[in-house]
Amino acid sequence: MSAATVSLEQEKNPWLAAEARFDNAAKLLKLNEGMCKVLKAPSREITVNIPVMLDDGRLEIFTGYRVQHSIARGPGKGGIRYAPDVSLDEVRALASWMTWKCAVVNIPYGGAKGGVICDPSLLSDGELERITRRYTAAIAEFIGPEIDIPAPDVNTNDRVMAWIMDTYSMRVGHATTAVVTGKPMNLGGSLGRREATGRGCMIVTLEALKKLGRRPEDTRVVIQGFGNVGGMAGTLMAKLGFKIIGIIEYDGAVYNPNGINVDDLMSYRRENGNINGFAGAEAVDRNEAMFLECEVLIPAATENVITSQNAAKLRCRILCEGANGPTTAIADEILAEKKVFVIPDILANAGGVTVSYFEWVQDRQGYFWNEEDVNQKLQEIMVNSFAAVVAYGETHKVDNRTAAYMLALDRVVGAIKLRGIYA
Ligand code: GLU
Repeated sequence: MSAATVSLEQEKNPWLAAEARFDNAAKLLKLNEGMCKVLKAPSREITVNIPVMLDDGRLEIFTGYRVQHSIARGPGKGGIRYAPDVSLDEVRALASWMTWKCAVVNIPYGGAKGGVICDPSLLSDGELERITRRYTAAIAEFIGPEIDIPAPDVNTNDRVMAWIMDTYSMRVGHATTAVVTGKPMNLGGSLGRREATGRGCMIVTLEALKKLGRRPEDTRVVIQGFGNVGGMAGTLMAKLGFKIIGIIEYDGAVYNPNGINVDDLMSYRRENGNINGFAGAEAVDRNEAMFLECEVLIPAATENVITSQNAAKLRCRILCEGANGPTTAIADEILAEKKVFVIPDILANAGGVTVSYFEWVQDRQGYFWNEEDVNQKLQEIMVNSFAAVVAYGETHKVDNRTAAYMLALDRVVGAIKLRGIYA
């Protein structure tokens, strides 16, 4: 394969992109070959083909995955996504990013991820519930509060988590709330969990502004993805005075140089199903909106949106990666040349799993915190982790992403060495 083919392949396949970042950090840390092999290979990969009865009486087979990348620092932790294009390589990459993410914010988990190949927009509530329960039953012996703890991700939410909790609880014979996080409030959920990923993005963006000597009021923000992460980050940032000038969705984009009223846009979308036609902003080409001039760009949708093909066109000063893997490894070099201040995904979107950790702790204690406590503890972890990554980068003269990976790898390697390798 030519170098060009390799790089194109890598920009499409998140597992190759994850490997490239890993190799770079491992080389700088001078990790030995054996340790690299241990860290690279996912500990456990489960593929299940599950039969599910559709509403029309047809029996269909769905394929699901759960990958536990590392369990060196604690149980596996990570979301489950439902999408038509889920693949084992994607779930592998996402699982490894969870390992590094939990290590960056120093919470006692390894990394895992799950996915089911399906299109939720084509499924009824009943079908969605049956898929969820059957998938949970198929992976039940490999999950648990001490083993691997799922959570929401793309196209899954608190309702799906409640079904997982119930299915698992039926199997073990008692209510086990700590088997999943991101649950409804009256089922052992945590206050602040739904907002946590967006809140985390806001906190680290504020830290980046302080570092660069800027103020929220003079900061224009473009957000790609107006779901749980992007929508919440936009709402919270607008409250602090940031000007949210652009919002990009999969089927349209809106722009207002004076700032979009994010709450109004949310209500508009609730009523109309999408953001198109919103009167408080002008419609712009969704393929071009990412290149609007702004201080902060927040990709908060899916992988591989910033690539070697478009990175040069970005006009932001700070890139806050709300999504997992929005930037390909090759695009990193272009962003470095452009001196974009990157807040890498494994730091920027770690607020979600951090409050998942708080939820798990509360479930296990059977004692629940108020929202102020949750937000305060999240703030502390995000601010400290941001400072640790930036300081590591400055000390070792590497960019923020490399610093985050090196810090994370170092922590995981430390745990493995203390435990010893049972080989
Ligand atoms: N799916 C989220 C993530 O990618 C949250 C995972 C969790 O809370 O375990 O970080």
